[in-house]
Amino acid sequence: MVQTLKNIVTQSVAPVTLLVFLVAAIGAQAPQPDGGGIRPGVLPRTWLLGGPKCVEIPEFQVHEYNEDFYILRQSGCSNYEKPFLYLLFGRDKAILLDTGAGKTDIARIVSDIISKWLARSKHKSIELVVAHTHSHKDHTGGDEMFKSLSHTTVVLPNLNAVQSFFGIKNWPEEIVQYDLGDRIVDVIPIPGHEAASIAIYDRQTATLFTGDTLYPGRLYVKDQVQFIRSIQRLVDFTQDRLVAHILGNHIENTRTPYLDYRVGTVYQPDEHGLELSRGQLLELNDALHRMNGKLVRMAMRDFTVWPN
Ligand SMILES: [Zn+2]
Ligand SMILES: [Zn+2]
Repeated sequence: MVQTLKNIVTQSVAPVTLLVFLVAAIGAQAPQPDGGGIRPGVLPRTWLLGGPKCVEIPEFQVHEYNEDFYILRQSGCSNYEKPFLYLLFGRDKAILLDTGAGKTDIARIVSDIISKWLARSKHKSIELVVAHTHSHKDHTGGDEMFKSLSHTTVVLPNLNAVQSFFGIKNWPEEIVQYDLGDRIVDVIPIPGHEAASIAIYDRQTATLFTGDTLYPGRLYVKDQVQFIRSIQRLVDFTQDRLVAHILGNHIENTRTPYLDYRVGTVYQPDEHGLELSRGQLLELNDALHRMNGKLVRMAMRDFTVWPN
């Protein structure tokens, strides 16, 4: 494929342009289908369904993607939003993205995972940073419980706190790095769904966490101008990076194209998979551009643009 591009480009453009074009074209791809140097992990085929037998279902399902990356999903029986939370471990720090909806046992559940991780990795202790993809209350419900834990910093879910914690001076254009210890994540401002929204790119697993900004469901847009720019920012950022998965905060679509579950659905036996790819990010960006600055509700195969 690269060879073909090279042939086409060589015939038609100047060498400098050729170089730039090839770097861009190759950057987001691995030269061989050998895993691309990304640390692998496994996503479940399906999640616990959130019902109908609520007595049998734990408040949070914990999935070990690999030893240093955990995905937690709140049960529909606990809250119909069924949000996803993400926990990444570096050598010195762990970062938890979001704390779920309502009052739950999430701090104890996360502490439990950390204890097991410490035992397995033979660490004495590790700092926990509790940050948020954005400030909506279905993702901040457990914050208070974390504030009383030792070795824990809770980044308040507001723009000032997010900017000052991560050191983002030029919001929202500036993308900064945060080091967990041998594990760097990029913090990308993506206001639009909510003013303090961020995406996180984990270089180790090439996973892009997009919060409520992109997931298989209803993409509620509060600030249209910012949302359009934020999606373009994600497209530009991923242009020269591998993207193994795009993981958002909810699943609201079914496996049937263009069909979602109604707001408030607890039991989703035929829900869409969690993971999206860069292809769907490009599809979203394309749709936004074609709306010409005035967003309208529009269902695509795997998600719906939903200005509100
Ligand atoms: Zn939200
Ligand atoms: Zn949400």
